[in-house]
Amino acid sequence: MASVRLQGITKQFDGNPVLKGIDLDIADGEFVVLVGPSGCGKSTLLRIVAGLEDAGQGSVEIGGRECRDVEPAKRGIAMVFQSYALYPHMTVAENMGFALKLAGQPRAEVQARVARAAAILQIGHLLERRPKALSGGQRQRVAIGRAIVRQPDVFLFDEPLSNLDAALRGQTRVELARLHRELGATMIYVTHDQVEAMTLGQRIVVLNGGRIEQAGTPLELYERPVNQFVAGFLGSPR
Ligand code: ADP
Ligand code: MG
Repeated sequence: MASVRLQGITKQFDGNPVLKGIDLDIADGEFVVLVGPSGCGKSTLLRIVAGLEDAGQGSVEIGGRECRDVEPAKRGIAMVFQSYALYPHMTVAENMGFALKLAGQPRAEVQARVARAAAILQIGHLLERRPKALSGGQRQRVAIGRAIVRQPDVFLFDEPLSNLDAALRGQTRVELARLHRELGATMIYVTHDQVEAMTLGQRIVVLNGGRIEQAGTPLELYERPVNQFVAGFLGSPR
């Protein structure tokens, strides 16, 4: 597990400021949800934490280590995206174990980790299937399984449920909460779904226009939104 500390993160694309100074401390094992309207910089911020994008200014610390010169694979993170391209020619087990195999993990270790992740996600009976024989929800679980087998300190989720229908989203939401309890890992979860934010987040961070409007527990944001924007996004009508 690891804490994550963001200090003064800025980012511009072609001269357009997208992140305008993000300061955020995330505790070891915390489940933090980032919410905000489309285009407000949520994915960019996650990609900066992952090391897939450089920040203009500011620093990312993971587990107390400044990460500017740490490549993505060495940051102890795993990311789950909205579009979870699985390798069509590989079985579920092969999809889940592929990155470990590439990293040179012994076969027995790969198999053990895949089996454990499959048990957590309740997809043990699907391990020999290929992606085309899976439902959307099952595919998304395989994508989460690929992240789990890497045993990251920090999970980064970018709208992982937005391609699922409402019933499946609800069910997978419950499973993600259980996953967090079982693994105890730090999780940073991006969504624009208010229900997901309120039910999953121990803390919710509301982004707007590249800045943090408010960060707090779901109850704090619901009862005491600091401004109209937060109230409109999550809070009670008042
Ligand atoms: P969100 O995930 O909150 O919807 P993003 O972080 O994807 O927002 O994008 C924030 C802004 O940055 C958007 O205006 C988007 O068009 C722009 N942007 C994101 N990535 C790039 C890129 N690689 N090049 C240029 N502009 C980008
Ligand atoms: Mg996004």
